[in-house]
Amino acid sequence: MAHPLEDTLIAKQITPTAMRLLVLDVLVQHPAALSLTDVEALLQPADRITVHRTLKTFTDKGLVHRIEDGSGAVKFALCEPSCTPEHHQDLHVHFFCTRCRETACLPTVAVPVIALPGAYQVQETSLVMKGLCARCADATLPPA
Ligand SMILES: [Zn+2]
Ligand SMILES: [Zn+2]
Ligand SMILES: [Zn+2]
Repeated sequence: MAHPLEDTLIAKQITPTAMRLLVLDVLVQHPAALSLTDVEALLQPADRITVHRTLKTFTDKGLVHRIEDGSGAVKFALCEPSCTPEHHQDLHVHFFCTRCRETACLPTVAVPVIALPGAYQVQETSLVMKGLCARCADATLPPA
């Protein structure tokens, strides 16, 4: 029987393998962005190099995007459906919670276009905002 996530991989022209389905499943199950170490821990036992290679394939194929949130580790989150291998469309703001240290995509908040002086040529823009996520800001909820 076909794995329910196989179509997601095929739609991005990624050949489904057991490892790719496992990594995709972890990303789908976790709304927050995950680092290589996070994915590896959730997949135990997993070979770090294989997980790394899988995340790179996903990034190259427009299935996930990389987020540098200042925590020191690059994190990965699922892309918007419009992303292609040539062109990632995830020009949204990311939010890093300083308490639970989770990074979230804010797909409805677009990164503003910022004009630069002179001959600077922008290749990518990322905007990470930091503070308390909704769960951490709500003192009535138990800490995660
Ligand atoms: Zn993307
Ligand atoms: Zn938080
Ligand atoms: Zn994102």
